[in-house]
Amino acid sequence: MNPLQDSHLMVALENLHQNCTPLPLGTTNGVVTVTGYVRVLYKGGSTLCYVCRCVCGKFGAHTKQNIAKGRSCGCRKNALISAANATHHMTYSPTWGSWQSMMRRCDPKNAGRRMGRWWAGRGINVCERWHEFANFLSDMGERPEGTSLDRINNDGHYEPGNCRWASAVVQGRNRSSTKIVEFGGRKQALKTWCEELRLSYPAVQMRLGAGWSVEDALTKPMKPDRRRKLLMNSRQELVQWVRARRAA
Ligand SMILES: [Zn+2]
Repeated sequence: MNPLQDSHLMVALENLHQNCTPLPLGTTNGVVTVTGYVRVLYKGGSTLCYVCRCVCGKFGAHTKQNIAKGRSCGCRKNALISAANATHHMTYSPTWGSWQSMMRRCDPKNAGRRMGRWWAGRGINVCERWHEFANFLSDMGERPEGTSLDRINNDGHYEPGNCRWASAVVQGRNRSSTKIVEFGGRKQALKTWCEELRLSYPAVQMRLGAGWSVEDALTKPMKPDRRRKLLMNSRQELVQWVRARRAA
């Protein structure tokens, strides 16, 4: 950078940049003060910039537009960002991200959009208390890794008591399409029952579809059909092989 301090150079600059009147030395927007001029070269031309001293003491080249907008050297912006972060130290954290997307999903403005179709479009909203991130954080705690925000009652709102941090597996079983089965006084997803009782999920689904009672579907022993299927497959292969040999 080569600041041109002489005032008579202003005339030369004015001639050079005919469609702009340079700001006089000492012009200030309250944050930065013009102390000189500099021509900043770029590919295909040059532009008049102002060497300014910022309130923080830093010198830098500023454009006329940025001075007019009241911009600082960047120190003000950084100060604002760190002040915003200081309020909860959580910006860009996973918890903050979850809170933000919850707010976006439930924003009535997004009801018709793809993003909000399942939430705002269904009238699901965020309780008043959680509109403040700090309250959400104190009620929910930090988001554990591998989990996301889940509503326990799928038709309920985002509010304390109806939300938890849940893994994708638990969430999948809490969807409106999941089949909940009551057996032995307990209610849980059919898939969870099958895992617990070591049953084949598709087979139990078929049993229920065929009109079996829940008790029968979950308690009657299953045939070890897997081995039979394997045998069938190899038998078919053998038949095909024999046919192929005959044709040859
Ligand atoms: Zn500054």
